[in-house]
Amino acid sequence: MLESGQWATICEQALGAFPEECCGLLLGEASVRERVALVVPVKNRFAEPRRGFELAPDVVACALAQERRGGTAVVGVYHSHPDGTPTPSARDEREAWPGWSYLIVPVLGGACGQPRSFRREAPNRPLAEELVEVGEASPA
Ligand SMILES: [Zn+2]
Repeated sequence: MLESGQWATICEQALGAFPEECCGLLLGEASVRERVALVVPVKNRFAEPRRGFELAPDVVACALAQERRGGTAVVGVYHSHPDGTPTPSARDEREAWPGWSYLIVPVLGGACGQPRSFRREAPNRPLAEELVEVGEASPA
């Protein structure tokens, strides 16, 4: 579940990075992993950023350290596909961490398409698609 403002942040980053892929972290509470609390854009440091993404490792290390201290947890990773297909590449499939949601944003014709999300339940399991909902935050 993404709030519409979070989706706007991701989409804006994806359009700005085009024709390269953009990437970032999805943070939330460890107990409510399907709800994103914070979107953190991260620099794509992959050598061929039009063909893949690699999160800046210092940012990931920092987020994981925060999680260990009981702060927000890393619930997933998002990245864009400038070719417009929101399906995991062979590299995406290979490098996905178990338990994290991998949100893929297709970019085509100067617009973001419907995102899809995939998650590996356990090591050595295939990525499985999960529902993506974009909506307003429910009133407290
Ligand atoms: Zn990808």
